Amino acid sequence: MSTHPTRDTAAAPDGAGSTLIANISSLVTNDHETVAAAEHGPLGVVRNAAVVVEGDRVAWVGTESEAPATDSRVDAGGRAMLPGFVDSHSHLLFGGDRTEEFAARMSGRPYTAGGIRTTVEATRAADDAELAANLARHVREALRQGTTTLETKSGYGLTVEDEVRALRIAADQVDETTYLGAHVVPPEYASDPDGYVDLVTGPMLDACARHARWVDVFCERGAFDGDQARAVLAAGVARGLVPRVHAGQLGPGPGVRLAVEFDAASADHCTHLSDEDVDALAGSRTVATLLPGCEFSTRSPYPDARRLLDAKVTVALSTDCNPGSSYTSSMPFCVAVAVREMGMTPDEAVWAATAGGAAALRRIDIGRVTPGARADLVLLDAPSHVHLAYRPGVPLVAAVWQRGERVL
Ligand SMILES: [Zn+2]
Repeated sequence: MSTHPTRDTAAAPDGAGSTLIANISSLVTNDHETVAAAEHGPLGVVRNAAVVVEGDRVAWVGTESEAPATDSRVDAGGRAMLPGFVDSHSHLLFGGDRTEEFAARMSGRPYTAGGIRTTVEATRAADDAELAANLARHVREALRQGTTTLETKSGYGLTVEDEVRALRIAADQVDETTYLGAHVVPPEYASDPDGYVDLVTGPMLDACARHARWVDVFCERGAFDGDQARAVLAAGVARGLVPRVHAGQLGPGPGVRLAVEFDAASADHCTHLSDEDVDALAGSRTVATLLPGCEFSTRSPYPDARRLLDAKVTVALSTDCNPGSSYTSSMPFCVAVAVREMGMTPDEAVWAATAGGAAALRRIDIGRVTPGARADLVLLDAPSHVHLAYRPGVPLVAAVWQRGERVL
């Protein structure tokens, strides 16, 4: 970090010193264990709070009256602050859009996995600069809504070359990249789906592995069955990738139990779950990542977050931002829908959108405001984080710090 362009005072030279963000009415830390001033409960809220940022890290958190001296000071105006949102599931390497498909669906046509092929065609036709610019636009759009960490996936190229370039472009711009060659069987393999699985687990994986941390598979009727998904995950693990699984989006299936069996970081969607699925998740460290934008945009029943939370499953919220089934980059929107439609309390939804997303990425340096964490902070134009659900659709994000730098 070399500059603090928007700080109120500039006592320290650029690149040096500490900044106090003061006059925070209510601060969500997600860490009531280390932050002494935090109220009990998962959100670890501190009232009349202040945060000290040094470089790209949080150096101190507590009540303002106890804040240490710093080189400069920013006044939060008596508003609420929380960790930057961690969006642990998106598909942002794509060309074109699917406006007409959405309009048709809202006129009564059901969603199927096959629509992905439309985007595959447009993505293959796009050049690298177009894909990079489209990704940058969405990253910026998410940042304006408070998202400071993004995971994104390949999966609209479905050739060795197109999957590699998607991950290469993604790795330039986002923290977390996922190899999703097993998104859908492309048309040229329609009569030989196992041949496509051989490509995904062989030459495509060889070319993609060094550009990704994660391997993912769309385990769903119309995409990949249990045996195929198992082959994809096993091959990815053998190449050092960590699994995550699209599971139980359109109907029940083997995806969730496969995710648990592979110690996946996350089982994503979890809309259709058997009791065995819930038990398996509860006994594992696999996070259930719920994607309410998807049910919203496909006019489908929402996942039952309450059932998972009551079973002590760790729940994350994410956008699933993609041009087909969930074209929103807004974590505040997901929080509001999760509270209104999925049985989550505002506190649970805010935790799931921050610390939950971090857990789904097996990260402890993000999703909380605690000494040593990355200084990713969101200031709301509201006195409490509850307003994220209480005032749906309202642009409440007033300022964003990412890695200690004020970016909005
Ligand atoms: Zn997805």
